[in-house]
Amino acid sequence: MRYSRQTIMECIGDKGQKRLSNAKVAVIGAGGLGCFVLNELALAGVGYIRIIEDDNVSLTNLNRQFIYKESDISNSKVKVAVNYLRERNGLVELDGVEERLTEANATELLKNIDIVVDCVDNVETRMVVNDYCVDKDIPLVEAAVNGLHGFVMAIRKNYPCLRCIGYENTKLKGVNEAIGAAVGIVASIEALEVIKIIVGMNELLYGNMLMIDCNDYSIEKVPLRLSDECRRH
Ligand SMILES: [Zn+2]
Repeated sequence: MRYSRQTIMECIGDKGQKRLSNAKVAVIGAGGLGCFVLNELALAGVGYIRIIEDDNVSLTNLNRQFIYKESDISNSKVKVAVNYLRERNGLVELDGVEERLTEANATELLKNIDIVVDCVDNVETRMVVNDYCVDKDIPLVEAAVNGLHGFVMAIRKNYPCLRCIGYENTKLKGVNEAIGAAVGIVASIEALEVIKIIVGMNELLYGNMLMIDCNDYSIEKVPLRLSDECRRH
């Protein structure tokens, strides 16, 4: 009954729902993108979610990171997020990891994971995740948002990755601009892509970058190529 509104969708059905409940997903980062993505994946019935985040809740998070409330300030994001999601769907197995993902611990922290969702806001972690998933051929969904602009990509071994587009040279200036209404749009597409990959739907974002412009509300799917300059391809 809980999932009946989505299992009546032809593209999901009981078979797709079973795939969701059998899936093991790692969400890296429980910030702006992460809050929305975690919520959507847990409500949709992803069976196992590992949340990897080492940060605590701060006041400047509260304009968009809806999982956290004022009384959570200074508390561990992972702990608050696990409790929040557990109350919303007790069927989901939640595993909170209070660590920052690095090259040194990536193999350990991403062990037994079927699909990785990147919700971080720094280039360094993105590259570690990118390299790990391309090397191991684990599906990776990437998204980033800054102000009213964002992108979503799906990556795996034989498709263009962040290095193929030269993302490692990205210079982020100070803190990212962020308003919840725009973060939610980009994060919902990111979560939907994860669900589509798990269920086995067509029209995935592998080989493309979906550019979302919330200024003029345009969305463009830009085809990407494997690059000779890429250290992973
Ligand atoms: Zn590449």
